[in-house]
This record gives sequence, structure tokens and C-alpha cells, in this order.
Amino acid sequence: MECYFCQRNIKDIDFKETQILKRFISLSGKIKPKKRTGVCSGHQKKLTRAIKRARYMAFLSPTSK
Ligand SMILES: [Zn+2]
Repeated sequence: MECYFCQRNIKDIDFKETQILKRFISLSGKIKPKKRTGVCSGHQKKLTRAIKRARYMAFLSPTSK
């Protein structure tokens, strides 16, 4: 499985792209391991940062409100 972001030529992951970020968050609100999603390590790092940022900015809440 190829990296979702490499495939789409996405270099920077925007924390406001919650629709995309949600694909990589499990039902329990955790970031899915790259083994499962096929994301490369470079993008996994960016993804983790984007998700944390989104949570901080409350775009994504860990629990559904
Ligand atoms: Zn990638």
C-alpha cells in the first residue's frame, strides 16, 4: 500500500483538513500506526503534528462532543 500523501503529492498536511486527518484516527481517538495506514515515516511525522495541532486548536476533539 502506498502512502496516501505521497500518492496525492501532498507535501504539507494542513491541520485544518479534518476530513483527511480523521481517516488516520481510530475510533478511540488515537493516531493509527503507519503499519496499518501505509503512510511513510516522513508523512507520519507530519500527520502526527497536524493531528496534535488540530486537537489543540479544537478542530478535532479526541472524544465526540
Ligand atoms: Zn508519504
